[in-house]
Amino acid sequence: MALVPCPECGKEISSAANVCPSCSFRIRKAKRGFFGFMFKSLFILFNLLMLAWALSYCAEIGELSTDLSSDAELAGAAVGGMIGSGFLMMIWALGAIILGALAYFTKGKD
Ligand SMILES: [Zn+2]
Repeated sequence: MALVPCPECGKEISSAANVCPSCSFRIRKAKRGFFGFMFKSLFILFNLLMLAWALSYCAEIGELSTDLSSDAELAGAAVGGMIGSGFLMMIWALGAIILGALAYFTKGKD
């Protein structure tokens, strides 16, 4: 364990310290553990997947409504689409909150 000068106040501090004990300058970023990294990656992946799902869902609804002839069928598709997209948004929001919270709580500490 070597002593190095703090870049902020110049005091000799341990090279193993994350934060200068004298001036609280952050010498290095807190490291994310394995779980922190995993949850952060999952969070990003989840959002990308949901975005892909939402886009393909919108494309499907658009295709569907052009095939329908009668107003009743069109209304049914619109209602179904609204319920479906509401369901999709709910899962998205819920998943983002849960994974976001997990990523937050597993992030590195000092
Ligand atoms: Zn310092």
